[in-house]
Amino acid sequence: MSYVDEVLERVKTKNASEPEFLQAVDEVLESLRPVIEANEEKYRKEALLERLTEPDRQFKFRVPWVDDKGQVQVNTGYRVQFNNSIGPYKGGLRLHPSVNIGIIKFLGFEQIFKNSLTGLPIGGGKGGSDFDPKGKSDREVMAFCQSFMTELCKYIGADVDVPAGDIGTGAREIGYMFGQYKRIRGMYEGVLTGKGLSYGGSLARTEATGYGLLYMTEELLKCHGTDIAGKTIAVSGAGNVAIYAIQKAQQLGGKPVTCSDSTGWIYDPEGIDVALLKEVKEVKRARLTEYAAARPSAQYHEGRGVWSVKCDVALPCATQNELDIEDAKQLVANGCMAVCEGANMPTTEEATKYLQDNKVLFVPGKAANAGGVATSALEMSQNSERLSWTFEEVDAKLKGIMVNIYHNIDDAAKRYGQEGNYVAGANIAGFEKVADAMLAQGV
Ligand code: GLU
Repeated sequence: MSYVDEVLERVKTKNASEPEFLQAVDEVLESLRPVIEANEEKYRKEALLERLTEPDRQFKFRVPWVDDKGQVQVNTGYRVQFNNSIGPYKGGLRLHPSVNIGIIKFLGFEQIFKNSLTGLPIGGGKGGSDFDPKGKSDREVMAFCQSFMTELCKYIGADVDVPAGDIGTGAREIGYMFGQYKRIRGMYEGVLTGKGLSYGGSLARTEATGYGLLYMTEELLKCHGTDIAGKTIAVSGAGNVAIYAIQKAQQLGGKPVTCSDSTGWIYDPEGIDVALLKEVKEVKRARLTEYAAARPSAQYHEGRGVWSVKCDVALPCATQNELDIEDAKQLVANGCMAVCEGANMPTTEEATKYLQDNKVLFVPGKAANAGGVATSALEMSQNSERLSWTFEEVDAKLKGIMVNIYHNIDDAAKRYGQEGNYVAGANIAGFEKVADAMLAQGV
């Protein structure tokens, strides 16, 4: 049996109840086959893949907090420190009722390769809780965040593990968590990224994931003889990634016509009104029905359906496995030319293969959405040197990083005879640096 098959077998047996983690490992190891085969004996002896697919450590803890009625609530918190061979653990905190250890492990595993692709010294980690910030008062969110950090603060630090936002964790949550870390540890340090601008945050961090996604898409299209200008774009999601992807798409002359949330989706043939979307989602924290109510050109639909809209470019920016084989078939039938993932693993393996087989340009999240964590690393740099860079400076660095990632993944795919397969390219390029560091550092 080949070394890859042996490890896949072992990972499947050990993690049978973690489908998202298995999916992420399967996708990465499948595309690493040619790299592993070229070094089979050495990697097997070093147990490199066994080490890579097993987190360094994982924490699971109780998070008790008091709601507005005086009732004590209990949630579960997680932090998975996956791999720190190229830098301190780095990755977001997801607050969503669907969170469990398998989801956090899948996200942490992806983060290893994503962070490596940025070219910056950051390792892979992820955390979160099954707490749902939706419908909670500010005081309840603060109570949860403080309790969560009371435990998490034991395991993190500016040079150890630096968490950030993800689904459900935005500026408000980071502020409450940072305050609690500082209160308990009695020191100021850049232990979280995505901080507010008044206390050590970086300009352009809020916009970074969405903007970076569009810089990547623009470079991809440019290298295939076209650009964003005049393209109709379907976007899913209505959170931090989607909002700034829509904004940058418009700045580049594209026309984003959709967005979605957990209950429904918007088709706005005149193009999404970003100011209104921000007002509804960032200020009011309301549903998209409010967007539709305020915008005569918008059509609101219950459920899911963004991928049924005719578009040139699709940007899934909501959550994992939101674009399945049926969606992929519709996109292809409607003439979609490119899919770039703003979320983490939003496309199922089957749908990814279908899109690639039908010549749709496809860039996976670990490359296309790396702008967020890359800018987090720039925030860490600014914190270390006690300086703040201008918006233009950070944005220019972000753009440089995204263009660089595109060419690195393109080159890696070509080196292994898989031109145009950016899934393989991203996994290979991300893996090479981490593998090299792990081997250099011994066991
Ligand atoms: N949650 C984001 C991601 O999936 C950002 C993580 C970070 O900035 O550390 O990459």
